[in-house]
Amino acid sequence: MVQPLEIQLERCKVKKIKPPQNQLGFGVYFTDHMFIMDYSLEKGWYQPRVVPYQPIVLDPSAKIFHYGQTVFEGLKAYRTEDGRTLLFRPQKNIQRMNRSNERLSIPQLNEKVVLEALELLISADQDWIPTEPGTSLYIRPFVFAVQPALGVSPSTHYQFVIIMSPVGAYYPEGVNPVKIFVESEFVRAVIGGVGEAKTAGNYAAGLNAQENAKKQGYSQVLWLDGIHKRYIEEVGSMNVFFKIKGTVYTPSLNGSILDGITRSSIIQLLTHWNIPVVEKVISIEEVYEAGKDGSLEEAFGTGTAAVISPIGELSWQDDKLVIQNGLIGELSQRLYDALTGIQKGVNSDPFGWMVEL
Ligand code: PMP
Repeated sequence: MVQPLEIQLERCKVKKIKPPQNQLGFGVYFTDHMFIMDYSLEKGWYQPRVVPYQPIVLDPSAKIFHYGQTVFEGLKAYRTEDGRTLLFRPQKNIQRMNRSNERLSIPQLNEKVVLEALELLISADQDWIPTEPGTSLYIRPFVFAVQPALGVSPSTHYQFVIIMSPVGAYYPEGVNPVKIFVESEFVRAVIGGVGEAKTAGNYAAGLNAQENAKKQGYSQVLWLDGIHKRYIEEVGSMNVFFKIKGTVYTPSLNGSILDGITRSSIIQLLTHWNIPVVEKVISIEEVYEAGKDGSLEEAFGTGTAAVISPIGELSWQDDKLVIQNGLIGELSQRLYDALTGIQKGVNSDPFGWMVEL
């Protein structure tokens, strides 16, 4: 049995000036403190500490810079109207981080220590949790290889860090459908690769396609599978769902798709509401056929940042498909209201998802 480590707390001497809540954006401002913990082969994880937010100094030969041995996570804390602090399914993020770590040959983290670190860090920066509708505190845990050596082998030393950023309402003017470019040339991940891991390289690999899509007026890329370029994987930093003739479909997890925590929550909610939901291999042709014969009722992405992001238009090989007349569908809105209501502590939490600090 691993004993939980004692976490040291060093408070900052001067607090930063907080930005106005209507100008937060996403991941632009950072709180007063951060969490750090070191790892070496000899000691395991040691010296967990909350310290003032500060730069990290690394040797230029640190393995992270050369071989990308790193993993990150993203989750949110919410302030309720009656002043409580709620975290959405944090254990799921820690467990996913450990699955990513396993894939990247990074040592496992102790779930209890990470939860305690989150609690201590959030309580040190309580006053940074924004209160305006739609705002939250975004939490970014990450781990990276720091051994100063150029040999291609798993690092012997790591750092695990948590930083936090107050983030604005994703949809300040109500949930807005997005236009999505279906990418037919580049792929994000392949089965057997690292697509299922939340690791930096997956995101770097997607940047050029994302920029091309943006230039053409699309907000994100829909990724197809790496072999046939036919089967739907995910949308940007979101999993994807399609409602066809009353049934909701989402690509089954195949090893190259990220196992989204919002995705699994949406599947649970739909099941709870007795709305049929099916995880299966879905081709882009199927979606286009359903779009053209009128049976495609709604499409939406799911993820921590936007929660639900309705898709108003797809563009695949110059063929444009407008969905739901470019407007938000009834189910997308219902899911958004239900999930954000649970997260904000407005709705009851029938699944026990929220962790109160
Ligand atoms: N796919 C990718 C590639 C992502 O980066 C994310 C964001 N973590 C998701 C899906 C959605 O996952 P989650 O619902 O856990 O945020």
